[in-house]
Amino acid sequence: MDAPPVKGFVPRAPSPTQSSPPVDAGAVHDRALGSYLGLAIGDALGATTEFMRPAEIRAKFGLHKNIVGGGWLRLRQGAVTDDTQMALYLGEAILESNGMNAKNVADKFIAWMRAKPPDIGGTIRRSLQMYLVDGRLVAEESEYSAGNGAAMRILPTVLASLYDPGKMRAWTLEQAHVTHNNAESDGGTLILAELTRLAIVYGQSAPLHTAARSFFEIFPAFDHKLYKGDADGYIVNTVRTVLHYFFNTRDFESCLLGIVNQGGDADTNGAIAGMIAGAFYGPSAIPTRWLARLDPKVKSQIENQTRELLAKFHPATNSEIFL
Ligand code: MG
Ligand code: MG
Repeated sequence: MDAPPVKGFVPRAPSPTQSSPPVDAGAVHDRALGSYLGLAIGDALGATTEFMRPAEIRAKFGLHKNIVGGGWLRLRQGAVTDDTQMALYLGEAILESNGMNAKNVADKFIAWMRAKPPDIGGTIRRSLQMYLVDGRLVAEESEYSAGNGAAMRILPTVLASLYDPGKMRAWTLEQAHVTHNNAESDGGTLILAELTRLAIVYGQSAPLHTAARSFFEIFPAFDHKLYKGDADGYIVNTVRTVLHYFFNTRDFESCLLGIVNQGGDADTNGAIAGMIAGAFYGPSAIPTRWLARLDPKVKSQIENQTRELLAKFHPATNSEIFL
């Protein structure tokens, strides 16, 4: 069976007005949680088909649609990989430092690396080893660092800067440069961070379309209309893959099924798509069969960290937050 057909993207609600609508803090918390759970679920679901080709996935699963573990990492059912783990470590660093502190971020990543994670990307390993050698907090600039490893872990940075795009941009790049110092990585990471931020704050499609269009004017290579099925870990292909399935499906499940059945860097593309779609559609749109299989320890870490980040960085009540 083929992956589900891609349907036209239908905006769910009118765009926000220019008159600074109040933000419903309860709804924002809900969407933030949907985003973090979506990230972990995309990771756990996609890890099974990482590095496979679509034809291999069809031959083995028909349609890959359940969290079953396995894959090249031989994961147990419900386990997550570096994408979710690095986000959680980054979130811990942000909470401890009360903001962005690149040294604390690097130290957390080192602690994660020493805990022997199931996988670690080559660029990340090299950069962290250089940090251990000379303490550098900005990785060496390299044309070979255009992978999606800086983008996959951005969510806690976004959650700590939801109402301040300037801070979101600065913190996103600061954490990115600890391991990835590359213009394409920067551009793609910023696009994905801003779309996630807008999905959490508004939960509406119009701001996402507007933001995507304006990014494509600056970085035309990221336009998902150029997507031709390449779903590897190159940041340009990741952005195209994620946005193609997000903008051309109408619910969380279809978006994620489309992505993970494309193979390639399926866990990372699934995690990033889950982060945006989970925010946009909210946690109630995540299939219960997926939520029920997610590692309960990871689920509770996500619930706690989401609550702590929002409480620390956005303590205002509903009536106090206006955009
Ligand atoms: Mg991974
Ligand atoms: Mg991956």
